[in-house]
Amino acid sequence: RKRIGVLTSGGDSPGMNAAVRAIVRVAISRGCDAYAIFEGYEGLVNGGDMIKKFGWADVRGYLAIGGTLIGTARCASFRERKGRLSAAYNLIKNGIDALIVCGGDGSLTGADVLRSEWPGLLEDLIKEGRITIEEATRFKHLTVVGLVGSIDNDMSSTDITIGAVTSLHRICEAIDSISSTALSHSRAFVIEVMGRHCGWLALMAAVSTGADFVFIPERPPISDDWESEMCETLKKHRDLGKRMTIVIVAEGAIDKNLDPIRPEYIKKLLTDHGLDTRVTTLGHTQRGGKPCSFDRNLATIQGVEAVQAVLRATPDTPSPMIGIRENKITCEPLMKAVELTRQVAEAIAQKDFRRAMDLRDPEFSE
Ligand code: ADP
Repeated sequence: RKRIGVLTSGGDSPGMNAAVRAIVRVAISRGCDAYAIFEGYEGLVNGGDMIKKFGWADVRGYLAIGGTLIGTARCASFRERKGRLSAAYNLIKNGIDALIVCGGDGSLTGADVLRSEWPGLLEDLIKEGRITIEEATRFKHLTVVGLVGSIDNDMSSTDITIGAVTSLHRICEAIDSISSTALSHSRAFVIEVMGRHCGWLALMAAVSTGADFVFIPERPPISDDWESEMCETLKKHRDLGKRMTIVIVAEGAIDKNLDPIRPEYIKKLLTDHGLDTRVTTLGHTQRGGKPCSFDRNLATIQGVEAVQAVLRATPDTPSPMIGIRENKITCEPLMKAVELTRQVAEAIAQKDFRRAMDLRDPEFSE
């Protein structure tokens, strides 16, 4: 009888609750026990009442609620072996032999580190007299499965992450609201959107709202005179009769020297070109609110697959990450996806933007 623990970690994203609900209920219906681990890795390191057995009714109402009801945290102690030793102890004391983590690449890396250290952690716990040899034998293997919860859609090897589409909806609604006032006053707005080092939210928002210009990290403006060229483009749109101007700046937007492109700088350029310009930073409204039906479905289907992956796992299979590609749920080695994600950051740091774009999304970059 498997005992499956679930935690949400890193930045919250809408749909994480739906994932937890699916995992708990499918686990129960497959004859397993389900445990919620509260506050991400904090709960795993601290144990006690931060790890709680969940029944069917404990996740009632979870589908429609944004964020994560079991909490999330950034946990410094889990980055240290000592913290992971406590985590291993708490898992064993609760009888948990499988861990499903819903989070970003950092969280998934952490889970894989725990699994790879597992035999050594057991040895240390025996040495310290905290667990018995019988317990170590019974919990010889830890199964780890990853789900990607992130509004940024910044994970390689999967087309879309849990929460990104809801966040995009929020951004589009906000830009629509801004558009009505921009149109009334014939103004320009420079809008900063989230996404960390990924331009997906900014790019999709630009397409969805018909923005005039967008800056994303994967494709910085390469011309030496991009400022004038941008202003020229915006002027052309105005000359065609457009009464407003929308420029979207991803929070990770950079120029070809890797220097950040700041909304205030764009505002200055636009103002100098005679446009009455305002800056709006959308901020945390982008993370919040009800998950859209896509994220509820995605999280549910992936949650089901995560439990199935736990039940299929053998000691030799690498920890899998549940993704989606071309509308099919995928299950591939977690560290391969993390490594590809790391390569994107590396390509950007080396100013190889073409490669970054290819790694992000080969089809889009064409
Ligand atoms: P995200 O999961 O959204 O990428 P973070 O990178 O902040 O967010 O990671 C969330 C948590 O995962 C961290 O606070 C830490 O507890 C754990 N974590 C991240 N990277 C590692 C790592 N290399 N080793 C161990 N734990 C890690």
